[in-house]
Amino acid sequence: MDELKEQLFFEPKNGYDRIDTQERLALEDYCRGYIRFLDEARTEREAVALAIQMAEERGFVEYRSDLELKPGLRVYKNIRGKSLLLAVIGKKPLSEGAVFAGAHIDNPRLDLKQMPLYETDEMAYFKTHYYGGIKKYQWVTIPLELHGVVALKSGEVINVSIGHEPDEPKFVITDLLPHLAKDQIQKTLAEGITGEGLNILIGSTPYAGEGKDRVKLAVLSMLNDDYGINEEDFLSAELMAVPAFPVCEIGFDRSLIGGFGHDDRSCAYAQLAALFAVEDPERTCVCILADKEEIGSEGVSGMQSQAFDCFMEDLCAAQNVRLRHCFEKSFCLSCDVSNAFDPLYPEVSEKRNESRVNYGLAILKYTGARGKSGTSDASAEIVAYLRRLFEREGVVWQMAALGKVDQGGGGTIAKYMANRNIDTIDAGVPVLSMHAPFEVVSKFDCYMTYKGILAAYQDSGM
Ligand code: MN
Ligand code: MN
Repeated sequence: MDELKEQLFFEPKNGYDRIDTQERLALEDYCRGYIRFLDEARTEREAVALAIQMAEERGFVEYRSDLELKPGLRVYKNIRGKSLLLAVIGKKPLSEGAVFAGAHIDNPRLDLKQMPLYETDEMAYFKTHYYGGIKKYQWVTIPLELHGVVALKSGEVINVSIGHEPDEPKFVITDLLPHLAKDQIQKTLAEGITGEGLNILIGSTPYAGEGKDRVKLAVLSMLNDDYGINEEDFLSAELMAVPAFPVCEIGFDRSLIGGFGHDDRSCAYAQLAALFAVEDPERTCVCILADKEEIGSEGVSGMQSQAFDCFMEDLCAAQNVRLRHCFEKSFCLSCDVSNAFDPLYPEVSEKRNESRVNYGLAILKYTGARGKSGTSDASAEIVAYLRRLFEREGVVWQMAALGKVDQGGGGTIAKYMANRNIDTIDAGVPVLSMHAPFEVVSKFDCYMTYKGILAAYQDSGM
């Protein structure tokens, strides 16, 4: 009976039981690079800038229409500084399709409003409007740093980054002391901290002299000294507060990584690293770093934008290929994080079908909510292709789903790729505390995500 069970049953195994010492060293090495990337790129704009710098160091050039698209050519296209497309031209023409890997580089965070600055009771604050799905109570009493740009009337754009370096000041949203929280603690988690309550403390020293709003004046005077801006300039600013925690290893065994933005920079970095590692690919490999996924992939820099089609159309035109013929034969890994099964909250999960920490790259055939609403639901043939590919290439992976049926749900960029007539499936790193200011992933899963994407890039197709 044991023999028959061995033959017929399917029991997933912990990833660490499936790799050797050499691969353990490789994964540590890979994760050192990822930790640096995550620590440096705190916003989509910073992720784009850093990715371009890394790409140029590796021979990528900005796409121009006069470039001859020879196999091996490495190009990138910067979409308004907020999303990025990179490609390595393959040996086969684009009429044979391309291999896409698409991740997003925006995060849940607190954006400043366009009229953010105010003073009350001799303290100065920024008003915020949260971006993406957050649990508001998680954003109080943690150190925050400020990033973004101020675009001036003159056309000049000023980059802002305050609080990331250890010696720079941070910012914070205060919370009520428990001694006086009798009413607050009766409220639900959704109501205890409100959206309009997320106001960031930014100063308390009054400007010398008499009159009102002296703390606000002191803050503006400092901003004017440092950046040459005044209050009106906030109207055309894009500033965001993100957690000021350094990325770090977690656990006695250092097997996990804690930090802000694993969703979805753990996949974005895996795609970049895989694209950089690609050698003489059969098919053209494209790395998509998209913006606005957390608010529905809208806008010019989101995955629903035609910016992506424009870039691909240019590549296709250079080879006399029609874009729709390329898409029809293409394959896309929509690389986004999945929810890792959390033993502290088992009630939301159906254990057999949830991704688990250290079980490798998580594949989601479908996401969505209720009756699979809002998912592109990849076909069985695509899953079979990945089983074949990953077994051949030694990629440890697992099948995943997003919680119990009717527990909630979510989506990714997958459906927008599939809607373009591209065979698409979700794949990514399982995350604990997703969308929290401090998320946790396993090094093993990050590394296997990289390996999985690289396998897809190097493969000649389904
Ligand atoms: Mn995501
Ligand atoms: Mn997300």
